[in-house]
Amino acid sequence: MAVKFLFATCALVLLAFSMGASSCQQRVEFTVFHTNDLHSHLKSAPSEPFGLGGLARLSTLLHRLRAGKPHSFYFDAGDWAEGSWYYSIDTGANMLRFLDLLGCDGTVLGDHDFLNGPDRMMQTIRMANPSFPVLAGNLETGQYSKGEELHRTIPSSYIKEVGGFRIGVIGIATSSILFDSFLEPIKTVNPIQAAARLVDEIRPRVDAVIVISHNDFFMNQAMAKFVKGIDLIISGHSHRKKPHPVMIKGPDREVSIVESGKWGAFLGQADLEFDPIVRRLRVKEYTLHPVTPDIPEDPVIAQLVLEQEKKLSEQFGDDIGRIVGELEFDMHHQDTVESSMGVLMVRAYRASTGTDVALEESGFTGSDVPRGPITLMSVHDIAPHIYNPDTGKEWTLHRWNAKGSDLQAIFRIFYRVNGFMPPGWTLGWLFSDNLHFTWDPTLMIGGMHRGIPSFFEIVRSITIGERPLDPHARYSVALTDGLIRAFKIGGEKLKLNLDFSQLEDTGIEAWRSVLDYIVSRKRLTKENLRVGQTSKTLGPDLAILEYGIEWDKTHLLIEVENLGLKPSRDGQVHCASGVRDGYALFESDEQRWTPIGEASVPALKPDQRVQVRIPWVASGLAAGKWPVRCEAKLRRDRYKDNNVAQRVFIR
Ligand SMILES: [Zn+2]
Repeated sequence: MAVKFLFATCALVLLAFSMGASSCQQRVEFTVFHTNDLHSHLKSAPSEPFGLGGLARLSTLLHRLRAGKPHSFYFDAGDWAEGSWYYSIDTGANMLRFLDLLGCDGTVLGDHDFLNGPDRMMQTIRMANPSFPVLAGNLETGQYSKGEELHRTIPSSYIKEVGGFRIGVIGIATSSILFDSFLEPIKTVNPIQAAARLVDEIRPRVDAVIVISHNDFFMNQAMAKFVKGIDLIISGHSHRKKPHPVMIKGPDREVSIVESGKWGAFLGQADLEFDPIVRRLRVKEYTLHPVTPDIPEDPVIAQLVLEQEKKLSEQFGDDIGRIVGELEFDMHHQDTVESSMGVLMVRAYRASTGTDVALEESGFTGSDVPRGPITLMSVHDIAPHIYNPDTGKEWTLHRWNAKGSDLQAIFRIFYRVNGFMPPGWTLGWLFSDNLHFTWDPTLMIGGMHRGIPSFFEIVRSITIGERPLDPHARYSVALTDGLIRAFKIGGEKLKLNLDFSQLEDTGIEAWRSVLDYIVSRKRLTKENLRVGQTSKTLGPDLAILEYGIEWDKTHLLIEVENLGLKPSRDGQVHCASGVRDGYALFESDEQRWTPIGEASVPALKPDQRVQVRIPWVASGLAAGKWPVRCEAKLRRDRYKDNNVAQRVFIR
């Protein structure tokens, strides 16, 4: 009866749509597994709070789960290459080989996969010779002499079949002003335009369309909203961890978007069903699997990872696991606010070069480092960018003899542009050593500072050393290849006319500068690397920082400080705990927080700190790792981005 019914429906559908695609006779079910942003993380990152990740465990998990699914695919959404030291072995060919062993059915080019230019990118793919395609359908190669070869090596799309059911898989590479410069002379086409053209092309030949897009999550949402004919978007680049697909109403159907965090800590699984009556693909069930430490390692992959570690130590003539110093606190990467890691980097750059000023940007700061002994590998991954096999070096420090007026323009424009960014977008934080500024972030709009549009100057005064910046003077500035590139591109777009005529390469690799600094200090303390010292708000600014939360088993001890230039009035601190071992929820948009308690903060003078205590014995909680999040609340706080910090505690 059911079969007959389906057959009849199919005939009707065929008549109605006279489809070019093959099947509609029956409900089709298949499963898509996905990862994104592996960034050469062969092993779980030392700072991963739950010890998640590692390719050997990911392999076991994938093979286990796929064994029960006769029709399944595994796609990766890009940035498999640069981001960890292992990239320096062969610019990412090793990762493509690992993906092959993991049974990958296709990946896409992410921005970190083409940082050594198009020639090296193609060479890397050919060297690995994976059995799956590396896709990118939005590369405009008119100016590139090897354009045809590139399109043969990196196709736009391909078709996968499940028992006569045809799935079109399209890849869209990262398109962004900064990263486009690494692809020159190739240009990227806007992801939405490119996807619209490619979907139109492939749609008549397939039953469903999956787009693998290594673009900002907002961009991928816009793609779902405006491009006809997409069923599923596998997203990468924003490192979003989504326990459930994000559903977007597109022009002709509901589109599911999935993204699974970063560094192989999670594996996404979308069980899909094609309904022949409405001819729509839908996610029947979705699971975000944590790659937990109790999953046994695939011995073949584990052995190959070990070999890569040996290779790296040999290549660099040093043991990558060697201990080079000691860290007193957990040091975290922060994308949008000031962090100790950035403070450490600019201190090191200036110490190595003897310049007046050193600069770095939060996007170029590296991976978290846990407290305790620091290994050579951890130091490298604080400043991991970008190994160039032609020079045998990573990004080096340059000495820029900069006009005072150029430095002034950079700081003013950086924070003004930040203020105009739409919610969720940011340029990040610009770190400086020996350059201080005062500012009024309440004049910013967009992001966390939505309010009335303002054209006021956000950055007010800048001093270098003890003296006000002189626009007519020249200052020596230490900075890396990445920041120079960003300033050049940004300066051109905004017509700032920055003068880079006096720029020289010191030849000192940025990461080795950080290494020298750590070795010379031996022990890094939070007192020495406190944040909030280079920028001061004109009003009160209550802050809780990454290193400011401790737990003595009976109380949470929270350090609150006033980093502003004016005294603060009474404020409050609220703390909450997250779901125990709620791996998938932790730090995702759906994280659930249960209040622990609150405490009042007395009025504080500028730069004064106080420690408040909130009882937390956690006796009702099972043993495990508990994320705790504390937030400072103060009326008329001038800068709120530094009001929240979180830590993970074991109980
Ligand atoms: Zn990316």
